[in-house]
Amino acid sequence: VSEPFVPPKRLLLGAGPSQVPDPILAALAQPTVGHFDPAFLELAEVVSRRIRETFRSSGEVALALPTTGSGGAAVLANNFVFPGDRVVCAVIGVFGERLAEALSRAGAEVVTVEAEWGRAVEPERLIAEIDSSTRLVAVVHGETSTGVAQPMDGLADAAHDAGALLVADCVTSLGGFPVLIDEWGVDAAFSGTQKCLNCPPGLSPFVAGQRALERLAERERTPSWYLDLGLLHGYWNPQSRSYHHTAPVNMIYALAEALRLIEEEGLEPRWARHEAAHTALRAGVEAWGMSVLAEPGEALWPLTAIVVPDGVDEAAVRRHLLEDRGIEISGGLGRLAGAIWRVGLMGANATLEVVELVLTSLSEALAAQGHGVSLDEALSQARSSEKGLDFGSRTP
Ligand SMILES: *Cc1c(COP(=O)(O)O)cnc(C)c1O
Repeated sequence: VSEPFVPPKRLLLGAGPSQVPDPILAALAQPTVGHFDPAFLELAEVVSRRIRETFRSSGEVALALPTTGSGGAAVLANNFVFPGDRVVCAVIGVFGERLAEALSRAGAEVVTVEAEWGRAVEPERLIAEIDSSTRLVAVVHGETSTGVAQPMDGLADAAHDAGALLVADCVTSLGGFPVLIDEWGVDAAFSGTQKCLNCPPGLSPFVAGQRALERLAERERTPSWYLDLGLLHGYWNPQSRSYHHTAPVNMIYALAEALRLIEEEGLEPRWARHEAAHTALRAGVEAWGMSVLAEPGEALWPLTAIVVPDGVDEAAVRRHLLEDRGIEISGGLGRLAGAIWRVGLMGANATLEVVELVLTSLSEALAAQGHGVSLDEALSQARSSEKGLDFGSRTP
């Protein structure tokens, strides 16, 4: 006789999915209604507004793509790349490589501008590659494989002066790090639900503005019917509401609740909470003589990449955390496999309490390998770190 699946108890502190708080799980478990039910369409309008606000965008398009984060890149490629287009793409880690690959598969001639993994690309270096034949400039704003945030200064002016669009992957930054779509002049951007929004994986919040829509209007039809932004927007646009796909109703309940919690907390306090958590974790591991891959000024607060000290078995430490404490953290991706741990303090888990738990369990796992470290020293550095008082009164 088969039994229903019961997941193990875990604390998700890796690169995603992040922990899903109870109110969001409860929203997910509400009865499914039709995706044209008037009550659901009313909720979709609220979700659309909240997506716009969370991205700090005033663009016409604000919707939840029925795909994971990577689907956002596929939508950009399918709609905004014409075969032979010259595209300039920043690559500072695995997700930059994937974005370049998605654009290239759509027929773009991709010029990559790379930086050493662990650093951002200086905007001037990207700007220098933009010429009058460039049609698109693409960046990963929060590079989850290295824990680095890409500065956006000057990119929009350079792209727009050349007649190019500026697009961004904000999968890990949205809801945990300042994402300022209007202020940066970004024409289209996407995220994912399972990072700082604390939903299960499965949707990609997406925004696009006027310039992007004008580019879309230049083409007869896009290669993929399913990823056609015009058709996707046709469902989300209250003026048309035409059937394209069956909206993932329960996931949209969950996203609505996740975005409501963000609205309740406020974006600035939420960003500050992520910064404080990252800063405290950095101070703790630095007290052990260990280092964080990203420099403080380039750090993507929701994702801290810790360099594995010499002589430590990185996979054994992760196994220890999972088996002993039920804590999941991530290892390195691509060329950083085996070299870093990636600790995600995303959404509800960006708190001093969670930082203390990470330091405590890391010290235990290191001790199990004969690599003794002083927990007291790390906790005291974490508690007194520069941003240590910015956690605010609300611990979600
Ligand atoms: C997680 C992530 C993605 C991919 O999202 P999926 O939901 O796994 O498809 C893309 N870009 C970045 C920066 C990410 O962190």
